[in-house]
Amino acid sequence: MRIDLHTHSRASDGTQPPAEVMRSAREAGLDVVALTDHDTTLGWAEATDAVTREGVALVRGIEISCERGGTSIHLLGYLTDPEAPGLTGEITKAREARVSRLERMVALMVADGIPITYAEVLAQVPEGATPGRPHIADALVHKGVIAHRDEAFADWLSNDSRFYVGHYAPDPVRAVELVVEAGGVAVHAHPFVRTAGRTVPDSLIEEMAAAGLGGVEVYHRDHDEEARARGLALAARTGLFVTGSSDYHGTGKRNVLGENTTTPEVLAQIEDRASGVTPVVRP
Ligand code: AMP
Ligand code: ZN
Ligand code: FE
Ligand code: FE
Repeated sequence: MRIDLHTHSRASDGTQPPAEVMRSAREAGLDVVALTDHDTTLGWAEATDAVTREGVALVRGIEISCERGGTSIHLLGYLTDPEAPGLTGEITKAREARVSRLERMVALMVADGIPITYAEVLAQVPEGATPGRPHIADALVHKGVIAHRDEAFADWLSNDSRFYVGHYAPDPVRAVELVVEAGGVAVHAHPFVRTAGRTVPDSLIEEMAAAGLGGVEVYHRDHDEEARARGLALAARTGLFVTGSSDYHGTGKRNVLGENTTTPEVLAQIEDRASGVTPVVRP
């Protein structure tokens, strides 16, 4: 059984509509895929409709952007109730904050002479989608200023760029509590990826574990051998389960569906811990 628990669609910064992510999942030989768009459940309905057609099971999920002390933390929430007021309130607030944040980043870029306008960036954000830095990169690609999103993230759009502006994001411990309150299961996404030179201390992950965190995403392309070893040791010490996934973004990132996978045993644990309001959708 091939299980990939972290992908993005055009509901956030992936490049394919949810149904196409499902089709690509079948083509990649996956049996189970999780759709985990940033701060939104917008893509769930379309992905659910594609389950039977593609013969791939769907774990409905979300990737919540969190922040503590200037460090960015991504939290995966699986099988949450999309109507739970606490979680819905936080992600709605974050999505709204992302709009003015994007406008401010573009204004800084314009002031520095980069040939881009806010209208051109907005034209890259699909209707209803969570806006993010990749949409600025898409506007630059569309204009021919750069050839791929990667080039923008290497400099102008990086976390330590002079153009970087943050946005409202919940505290990671609070976000874990909200996922649990929504009947879902929380997994710390790519915990050891550096943002602006920093990684989260083990103590914060331990704090999240005490708040109900279920697992850590150890097998991810942005984790080197040392990060994987650190993740495995931390998981063993704190009783967290271990996942692996691609963090697929269509053509927006080089990540390939199924390049890292999660075991069926861990998927069973995720289903056991969830309340059942939002079950895994099977063909
Ligand atoms: P934001 O949520 O607006 O802060 O933007 C962060 C998003 O940018 C994350 O989802 C990343 O997947 C994406 N991202 C980071 N680096 C790159 C890159 N090199 N190429 C494409 N997307 C990237
Ligand atoms: Zn993304
Ligand atoms: Fe992430
Ligand atoms: Fe992601």
